[in-house]
Amino acid sequence: MDRQQVVLHMNPGMGDNSYAHNSIIQNKVMRETKAIVEESIMRLYTIVPIHCFKVADLGCSSGPNALQLVSNVIDIVDTTTSNLNLEPPVFQFLLNDLFGNDFNSIFKSLPQFLESLEEKKGHKLGPCFINATPGTFYKRLFPNGSLHFVHSSFSLHWLSQAPKDLGNKENIHLTRTSSPAMHKAYGEQFQKDFKLFLKLRSQELVPGGGMVLTLIGRDKTREIRTSWSLLGTTLNDMVSENLIEAIKLESFDLPLYDPTIEEAKEVIEDEGSFTLQRLESVILDWSTNIKEAVEDENNNNLDLNTKAEFTTKFVRAALEPLLKAQFGEKIMDELFVRYKNKIVQLIMEVKLLEFSTLIISLIKKV
Ligand code: SAH
Repeated sequence: MDRQQVVLHMNPGMGDNSYAHNSIIQNKVMRETKAIVEESIMRLYTIVPIHCFKVADLGCSSGPNALQLVSNVIDIVDTTTSNLNLEPPVFQFLLNDLFGNDFNSIFKSLPQFLESLEEKKGHKLGPCFINATPGTFYKRLFPNGSLHFVHSSFSLHWLSQAPKDLGNKENIHLTRTSSPAMHKAYGEQFQKDFKLFLKLRSQELVPGGGMVLTLIGRDKTREIRTSWSLLGTTLNDMVSENLIEAIKLESFDLPLYDPTIEEAKEVIEDEGSFTLQRLESVILDWSTNIKEAVEDENNNNLDLNTKAEFTTKFVRAALEPLLKAQFGEKIMDELFVRYKNKIVQLIMEVKLLEFSTLIISLIKKV
């Protein structure tokens, strides 16, 4: 089996460096796209009779965000069925991620989650079944025509693999100064992967089914993930001090690509199974909602160190398992101390660290 399918996952558990504790930006995105999910589900209710509402969340990870979609959908369907005077449906939620994902912590959080749902919704809540579906979303995951709604948040910028033989010795992913050949190779990998993803989901959705996707995007006026590039610089420093073998860095490329709105649109149109309902880009600050993450709520003027720490943990929670597999566990603390110092410099130079997020809402053609 492809190594990435086994190695790639977010930091597990509930510790200081876990994804569960360092994914507030992603949670904010999910809360903000609730209105778009609502629009998609309300439309669905007007065209398809639904007894058991089947929803898949692809790349659910672990921690509070893994069940955020479930809460959002239950709220939306509750309001929609009340407004239309319909019985509440049975729910089936299918939570997907790669094999290494910490599904166990999701399972452990379920009793409390379901109890609080019952308290909130009482008799109005129909039976709610929550299942896990491990595997890559670049393969078929569900039977034909079995889903009403597919959701994926902050996952589709992960490619099935980094393009091969890039000759990309110093950088660990694309930067503005990467060679045209490298831009082409990453762009083509994205096109291939995203097209396949759309084709597979179109087979799994009912005709008229809805799909809402958010992913990190690229905006022509901004540098590509400046703060991630600094990780490459940090690794290079460690190579020159003989803390990391050069050959390990030379053969490491992150399987990540941030498409522009135009690139995403082109693939959707070319693949042809979906009607595009929405395609938007929003700009987010890296320290968005940072105040929710830090304990001192009265600290309005967040200091540089707190901001840098927040950004470092955000990146560490997502990348540590891949980095550990390549460079070894021993150097992780040192790597991220050095990385944080570079982020402090960066914030002093550019003040704002921003990135764009693409929000895509699609309808499976009938
Ligand atoms: N949806 C969550 C998690 C986003 S993190 C949130 O918004 O907070 C991205 C997740 O996508 C990770 O858990 C990662 O393991 C998963 N992922 C990446 N590539 C994947 C693939 N090919 N198939 C399934 N999951 C994938």
